[in-house]
Amino acid sequence: AAASSGGIVAYAGSKFDNTAEQTQVAQKKKMVVLGTGWAGTAFLKNLDYSLYDVKVISPRNYFTFTPLLPSVTCGTVEPRSIVEPIRKIIGKKGEEIDYWEADCYKINTVGKKVLCRSKIGTNLDGTGEFVVDYDYLVIAVGAQVNTFNTPGVMEHCHFLKEIEDARRIRRSVIDCFEKASLPYLDEEERKKNLHFVIVGGGPTGVEFAAELHDFVAEDLTKLYPAIQDLVKISVIQSGEHILTMFDQRIAEFAEAKFQRDGIDVRTGYRVVKISDNSITMKCKSTGETSEPYGMAVWSAGVGTRPVIVDVMKQIGQENRRVLTTDEWLRVCGCDGIYAIGDCATISQRKVMEDISAIFKFADKDNSGTLTVKEIQDIFEDLCIRYPQLELYLKSKHMSDIADLIRDAKGGDVEKGSMQLDIDELKIALAHVDSQVKSLPATAQVAAQQGQYLAQCFNSMRDCEEHPTGPLRLRDSGRHRFRPFQYKHFGQFAPLGGEQAAAELPGDWISIGHGSQWLWYSVYASKQVSWRTRVLVISDWLRRFIFGRDTSC
Ligand code: FAD
Ligand code: MG
Ligand code: MG
Ligand code: MG
Ligand code: MG
Repeated sequence: AAASSGGIVAYAGSKFDNTAEQTQVAQKKKMVVLGTGWAGTAFLKNLDYSLYDVKVISPRNYFTFTPLLPSVTCGTVEPRSIVEPIRKIIGKKGEEIDYWEADCYKINTVGKKVLCRSKIGTNLDGTGEFVVDYDYLVIAVGAQVNTFNTPGVMEHCHFLKEIEDARRIRRSVIDCFEKASLPYLDEEERKKNLHFVIVGGGPTGVEFAAELHDFVAEDLTKLYPAIQDLVKISVIQSGEHILTMFDQRIAEFAEAKFQRDGIDVRTGYRVVKISDNSITMKCKSTGETSEPYGMAVWSAGVGTRPVIVDVMKQIGQENRRVLTTDEWLRVCGCDGIYAIGDCATISQRKVMEDISAIFKFADKDNSGTLTVKEIQDIFEDLCIRYPQLELYLKSKHMSDIADLIRDAKGGDVEKGSMQLDIDELKIALAHVDSQVKSLPATAQVAAQQGQYLAQCFNSMRDCEEHPTGPLRLRDSGRHRFRPFQYKHFGQFAPLGGEQAAAELPGDWISIGHGSQWLWYSVYASKQVSWRTRVLVISDWLRRFIFGRDTSC
């Protein structure tokens, strides 16, 4: 059927001649992995390839260390230093694994096939298209930029998502300075060319603005002294503040620092149109204004890739923004499909939906009431299955189960009646589900999900042979089929001038030069290989000694 479907050639079996090997491969379940970003790479690094027949499909044959992309835009770090070939990453284990450089443009969730298209070469029918069957599909294609259909963005703005984007921005910044230096321009024209606009006050936009400011202040003013006073950097943010995903103290510090640095932060402005030389924005109080600009970078909003939109239509998730999975990262509404990273979100099961089952499970002696001990016994499992429970206790400053019981009973309770019946349990847990939070679209989440899913696949056979019930998460000391649990290690916002803001677990905030050093060490340690680690560190040293490279 696949062969006749519009010139698409089915991928025909294994490449082994040896029959013994062929049967062995045939026995293995076919796994297809889409994407080699944070989620896909973490998955592949942790997967035991000997258990599955793995095919990796992604349009980029390398992994990009995205947190350092803003550094590439100004030559602080070289592009080569933050990418690592995927074949090197997955080839390390010496196992047989196939990678194909292609886009997946359609997923057939019923027939369990992915339809792919390669841009680098064509097959006999001249299309470069092929079909791959799967038993298990791991979708890790990430997100794409969202222009919110703002006219002119696609044509005139830079994005900052891929390594090529960072390269283009770097060239464009220098071009703007050279253009502004040409002999036949008047002052207005020079100013226009040196107006750099960043749309979006999230971490990426803010970091890029800070990098650009440092680049101009530390390197370019020396090379272009005549025009240095004409440079202007603007950050346009539709909300009231920049860096809203950070603690308020960090946002305030960033805004104050940018003001001192002369970066124009315009909050409450929405960009409505961009032409080749002017940018139009709207503000509630002052209405519409247009301004000339030399270069614009769009870093506002994440959008869904078309292939994901199509899958969501097939499985009845069309009213969602990203693919919805359960807590084991299985895509809801279809079979054998898993989704990790920015293209997916976890739909956390509510405590209230399972309240009767929880009660029955906990009430070991069938007394119709739960004692503190009975609750205690299942409490750890409950917190793993329903992470909102722990968040709720924290938000209410409750330290133990006795607090929860007292709260449900409305005050002090005698020792003898420290018990809950089903209705009281319902009251005790009534507001727990309001603490359900969706995870942010970050590398940290994506990498942890990739690692977790690989561990699930590595132990799947074991788990199938020793199944555990939905509430039995720990079984004879072994942890099986635990739902995914995110562990937040904190987040950074580099703000330029060798200063950074860090938000660490336990509401720990630190801002300044010390945090910048923490940032250097964390990002050096997070590199995927020793090669990139050495390159990144030597790029930083080179920058300290010689400044940034301005030729490109
Ligand atoms: P990606 O890493 O985007 O990977 C998607 C992969 O899928 C890519 O290999 C892509 O080529 C491939 N692909 C795309 N379409 C298809 C298709 N049709 N078929 C097959 N393959 C496809 N997060 C942090 O935690 N800390 C930071 O400091 C940080 N800084 C950032 C700075 C920048 C400039 C950017 C852009 C992002 C930053 N992030 C940061 C966010 C982080 O990069 C993302 O959350 C993360 O990349 C998500 O991982 P992913 O695997 O879901 O997607
Ligand atoms: Mg990925
Ligand atoms: Mg990536
Ligand atoms: Mg996600
Ligand atoms: Mg009981």
